[in-house]
Amino acid sequence: SFKAFVLNKTDGQFTAGVQSLTFDDLPAGDVTVRVEYSSINYKDGLACLPESPVVASYPMVPGIDLAGVVAESNDPRFEVGQEVIAIGRDLGIAHFGGYAEYTRLPAAWLEPLPAGLTLKQAMMLGTAGFTAGLSIQRLEENGLVPGDGRVLVTGATGGVGSTAVNMLAGLGYDVSASTGKADEHDYLRSLGATEILGRDEVSAATGAPLEGERWAAGIDPVGGDTLAYLLRTTRYRGSVANCGLTGGPALTTTVLPFILRGVNLLGIDSVQCPPDVRARVWQRLASDLKPAGLADAIATEVTLDEIPATAGSILAGAVRGRTLVSL
Ligand code: NAP
Repeated sequence: SFKAFVLNKTDGQFTAGVQSLTFDDLPAGDVTVRVEYSSINYKDGLACLPESPVVASYPMVPGIDLAGVVAESNDPRFEVGQEVIAIGRDLGIAHFGGYAEYTRLPAAWLEPLPAGLTLKQAMMLGTAGFTAGLSIQRLEENGLVPGDGRVLVTGATGGVGSTAVNMLAGLGYDVSASTGKADEHDYLRSLGATEILGRDEVSAATGAPLEGERWAAGIDPVGGDTLAYLLRTTRYRGSVANCGLTGGPALTTTVLPFILRGVNLLGIDSVQCPPDVRARVWQRLASDLKPAGLADAIATEVTLDEIPATAGSILAGAVRGRTLVSL
């Protein structure tokens, strides 16, 4: 048997905790993986809620990210002993995820660990870092290059935000960061931000459909009024990549940024991202996008028992950077 963090509902009674599972408890799949690291994302916080908006069935082992070693394989692409990673798809919401010493999953959801990253580094990035990398790639596909002007990262002390700030700075962009945490400005400067804005400034609701053209581009895990702010302050032909909704799902804006300034609103999805794009982003995460500050500034490490505490604080917006789960 092995240890897993399991969510369950029996007779409507919700439980969450570490328990022993056997290989017979694992779902069907091509490849069994001995998990070494997982991580805690905002979506994992949502999964751990008693009335979760994301978990499709119980019992469930949450954890949308995992990195480990192949223990058994019925797929020719993967051999026993190989180092692999998986993020997104149904992991941790409709299929057992990464918060267990072992899991079993479809081969199509797995990829070899990219050369240039350790399993631990891959999970320091995880879904959040992948999403930051995908956002940068989409901005660059739409014309952004270093030297264009300031790039604003919102929700900057979070997982997506911290990795985005560090990656952009590493590429030579002029990075501005907005945060609700007044005591974390030094942290953001250590990651490479050279200008810090308060959350109030970037989430103020105003009647003005357009304001001064300030940003060459934006990376936005916050949504809501913050996305509206970014759209009305992004400069002519600039792009805004939105991936999240910690500030709310509703968007109140006008079409004027699109039709008068040619601003692009780019939607970012990591969960169903097609294989060729996925592979390209991981390759970049292991090379030119690999954050210099990954180990020192960004990641905290917890055990399975400590998951509920972090899952609670990530929903309250109180977590800084990335949280690794060590198995
Ligand atoms: P996270 O670590 O909790 O970061 C979110 C950050 O948002 C917080 O640290 C906080 O930063 C800010 N924030 C929190 N509450 C807020 C509020 N009420 N108003 C404004 N800002 C607030 O979460 P994450 O894992 O990086 O994920 C961020 C978002 O992206 C989530 O909505 C997640 O679901 C989404 N996401 C989507 C994808 C995708 O595939 N589309 C992938 C990954 C993540 P400050 O304190 O610095 O302001």
